[in-house]
Amino acid sequence: METIVKPSHDREQANLKDYEKVYASYGWLQAEACMTGLPGHHGLNMAYEAVDRHVQVFHQGDKVALRWCPQTGPVIDMTWQELMEQTARFANGLTALGLQQGDAVFALCPRQPEFYVAVLGSLKHRCLFSPLFVGFGPGPLHARMQSGHARVLVTTRALYQTKVKAIRTELPDLHYVVLIDADPGSVLDKGCISYREWMDASSPHYAIGPTSAEDAALIHFTSGTTGRPKGSLHVHEAIIAHHVSAQFALDLRAGDVFWCTADPGWATGIFYGILAPLSNGATVLVDGGEGDAERWYQLLETQKVNVWYTEPAAIRRLMQSGEEASQRYRYEDLRLIASGGEPLTAEAVRWGEKVFRKPIHDTWWQTETGSIMIANFRSTDIRPGSMGRPLPGIHAGVLKRQEGRLVPAAVDEEGELALRTPWPSLFRACIGREDSYRKSFVDGWYLTGDLVRRDADGYFWFEGRVDDVIKSSGHWIGPFEVESVLMEHPAVAEAAVIGKPDPMHYEVGHAFVTLKPNHMTHEDLRLEILDFARERLGPALAPRDLVIQSELPHTRSGKLMRRLLKAQVLGEPVGDMSPQGLGEVFV
Ligand code: AMP
Repeated sequence: METIVKPSHDREQANLKDYEKVYASYGWLQAEACMTGLPGHHGLNMAYEAVDRHVQVFHQGDKVALRWCPQTGPVIDMTWQELMEQTARFANGLTALGLQQGDAVFALCPRQPEFYVAVLGSLKHRCLFSPLFVGFGPGPLHARMQSGHARVLVTTRALYQTKVKAIRTELPDLHYVVLIDADPGSVLDKGCISYREWMDASSPHYAIGPTSAEDAALIHFTSGTTGRPKGSLHVHEAIIAHHVSAQFALDLRAGDVFWCTADPGWATGIFYGILAPLSNGATVLVDGGEGDAERWYQLLETQKVNVWYTEPAAIRRLMQSGEEASQRYRYEDLRLIASGGEPLTAEAVRWGEKVFRKPIHDTWWQTETGSIMIANFRSTDIRPGSMGRPLPGIHAGVLKRQEGRLVPAAVDEEGELALRTPWPSLFRACIGREDSYRKSFVDGWYLTGDLVRRDADGYFWFEGRVDDVIKSSGHWIGPFEVESVLMEHPAVAEAAVIGKPDPMHYEVGHAFVTLKPNHMTHEDLRLEILDFARERLGPALAPRDLVIQSELPHTRSGKLMRRLLKAQVLGEPVGDMSPQGLGEVFV
């Protein structure tokens, strides 16, 4: 088996120098000690750990917390002092709107500083914060805001006009829309507020109220095979795991320039794009640009990035753009490159070595786990293609069903990845899907839904999913959510959506539909249904391709057999059609 042996200076200089030794003795109490806690022993608040303590306790108020590089124009820095004041204004603004602890604030924003202020200001006010992905269309936005009872939405004028205005009347809880680019005094619609005017009217001083470590903080929506989107609920205590996992897996430390390329509409963008680096005292680089390869290489050099956390889809894009652009820049400050969210191929790990003279470190986790669980560390050898080994504090197992019971799988045998509960960032509820939440916990384990194997040295290897959810460019697509929209088209009788392997996006949504009587199969109708889905779902969820068939395969109980359709697309044998084979065992 190929192994990349780490040089001795990596072992000596890493935060986690001796993996085996630390892993054997580490406990979450040690992690908790990294937190300051609210003044007066008033609990643990994410925003305090990420922002205020750097001013009030560490006296680093003049250091840069956030560096925003817009597509064009000058770079804008925000110090910890400024971030503390801005987030205080935001929290005071929420008080003025009558929001109380536990009320939900949603944001649908491009990458710009107002979004970061909204996240941290909401957490300060002890509201529940939920990010929305700008690639969603009105349908998915409505489903998420309705399920999470959004009271306030922070967005731009353009996003409001194109995606939110039409669904506003169907969101009775949504009282206010804060528009980050609306001129003071301008009123777009009832309940719309100019961010600038609202912030200017608020005080820059805010004392965070008592916050219990178990108070709800964030909801992130992900997709399951069936049903509506699932809202993973995380509590303030999760910051403990964000903080230490970034030290262990990303080798992050105070003073670093840290660039997480994940979109802030997803869990990675919040946990590792905001909370983990800020709590560690690192400067967060925010790229407001379009993300072409040349720009990325240039940012790595000019912004002196020390730690870069990205994703396989982005790495594939860079790999495809050729080596010429990468060779025009130097990466002298870059200490560690990591990736997460999708399988990272051995080829991509080695590409990192060729271009940056550093391998790419794969990390594994889920929205539900709330922080990195398995990783390749700076100090440990890499087996390219493997997800690595569990973080200190995390006990991972591989389980299989035997006679109705969960038993450990043998070395190199495939089974479901399971994690021993609890840990601080584990999700505490699944909004809208309480049944599926309960089913994911068995005998003290959290069952992840991922199929893996563990080799004799404890390295984990990703094999697939037990269910039909689709991963495209690092984002989940729930087949049911897409199928429901396709079936709203007047000509569609039934729909099934599968993930088709794709060299750039890992998978893309591929739809199959049957037609209602009196509708004829023809190209215009096929394209019309695709357009219909794209308009309602947005580009992130809409299927790339669609096939009209005379029928779709079902189990005897009438359940759609997406696996069979997938086999059809791949030209593979149909395989095991038992309920186990259909992925019904663990879900
Ligand atoms: P999300 O909740 O969007 O972060 O997605 C989590 C899922 O993405 C996992 O359950 C895996 O199926 C997949 N995933 C995340 N990281 C990796 C990785 N390093 N290798 C393989 N699959 C991954």
